[in-house]
Amino acid sequence: LTNDQLDKWDRENFFHPSTHLAQHARGESPSRIVTGGEGVFIEDRDGNRLLDAFAGLYCVNVGYGRTEIAEAIAAQAKELAYYHAYVGHGTETSITLAKMVVERAPSNMSKVYFGLGGSDANETNVKLVWYYNNILGRPEKKKIISRWRGYHGSGLMTGSLTGLELFHKKFDLPFAQVLHTEAPYYFRRPELDMTEAEFTAHCVAELEELIANEGADTIAAFIAEPVLGTGGIVPPPAGYWKEIQRVLKKHDILMIADEVVTGFGRLGTMFGSDHYGIEADIITIAKGLTSAYAPLSGSIISKKVWEVLERGTDENGPIGHGWTYSAHPIGAAAGVANLKLIDEMGLVANARETGAYFNEAMRTALAGHAKVGDVRGEGLLCAVEFVDDKASRRFFDPSAKVGPAVASALLKRGVIGRAMPQGDILGFAPPLCLTRAEADRIVEETRAAVTEVFA
Ligand code: PLP
Repeated sequence: LTNDQLDKWDRENFFHPSTHLAQHARGESPSRIVTGGEGVFIEDRDGNRLLDAFAGLYCVNVGYGRTEIAEAIAAQAKELAYYHAYVGHGTETSITLAKMVVERAPSNMSKVYFGLGGSDANETNVKLVWYYNNILGRPEKKKIISRWRGYHGSGLMTGSLTGLELFHKKFDLPFAQVLHTEAPYYFRRPELDMTEAEFTAHCVAELEELIANEGADTIAAFIAEPVLGTGGIVPPPAGYWKEIQRVLKKHDILMIADEVVTGFGRLGTMFGSDHYGIEADIITIAKGLTSAYAPLSGSIISKKVWEVLERGTDENGPIGHGWTYSAHPIGAAAGVANLKLIDEMGLVANARETGAYFNEAMRTALAGHAKVGDVRGEGLLCAVEFVDDKASRRFFDPSAKVGPAVASALLKRGVIGRAMPQGDILGFAPPLCLTRAEADRIVEETRAAVTEVFA
């Protein structure tokens, strides 16, 4: 196909996720056609070789072009591309992967239910939590609390859980069973005039107040990412998770740790829950489970929840929840090969060590800049947040699109960062195989892009 043909067919036929419809109507921004990748680099049809410092959508944990995974997928496809995983059926790869996931999960975990993507895994989680409370004879304990700016998917329930306005407006969301509370995003709340410790206490108090107002007997679960991700890449302040868990336990509210981004090494531990001492009742996994070589997600269920689910009586029949593609053999084959590779390449340790190096280098290079308000991160997550006035933490008018301007200046220099959807934040989540030299290059090009945009 010629480039012109591809562009035409793309424009005529393909409704891309997250399309800016007005820009599409104006004929702006043709697609970058990506043709290959190796390690932390991708290539496009125009011959550009770009350092992908966002690992696709923070998912290609092992890096691009890993033939071990491609071969495992091919072998599975040749042997048996598909059979369903409904009760009484399985494949060697799906059963092996379930064992590998549970072995790697925190020690209170018991079983994994496989899905396709992070959104459907969170839909599963809500249903499991409701089922759990029904078995316990308290069907009214149903509401789910998530955090403003949290991201949990794009479905109807998961879009409701997502705490970003874009996912609610024009869709009549959120659903009534979903409540939102403040995320511990201290930097964005200068108007409160609090210390960080006071602000953490404020977040905990707000959660307690919400529970008191609604009634703990109406609230089933709290869902959150260990590190707020799409909402701004914000590691939690010290003590936050301990306090939040204290409140949840007191009110018998389940904790769903959405580890779609933080699972499988990104923070320098296998799970973010390990990193922050979160004792989750359910853990959501996707992205890093297969490093996106094939779609696969999962809900890891704790012994505590499983023990109740298992009380399901004969009169209930089978649980009314299943996807055709649950535990798809090709996804499972990718998962098995991917998890082996994460171990063999020592990627969890590399995320910890190179992540610390990368974050420190970014801070050193940029924290002194007049328009850089914050450089923050954990493991191989990093965010640079821009401000109009540093002393007062006055933010730019969103219409100035400062974050996107820096991201596009960076792209021109051959590095992909992500202008996060809300606020002027440049996000980084490179593959976990990142080397120090590659980290240096991201930092240098970011410094140059920032200098250029604010010249
Ligand atoms: N949860 C979190 C924390 C995510 O970051 C995402 C996607 O970015 C999702 C859920 C949704 O996953 P998916 O896009 O695979 O449905």
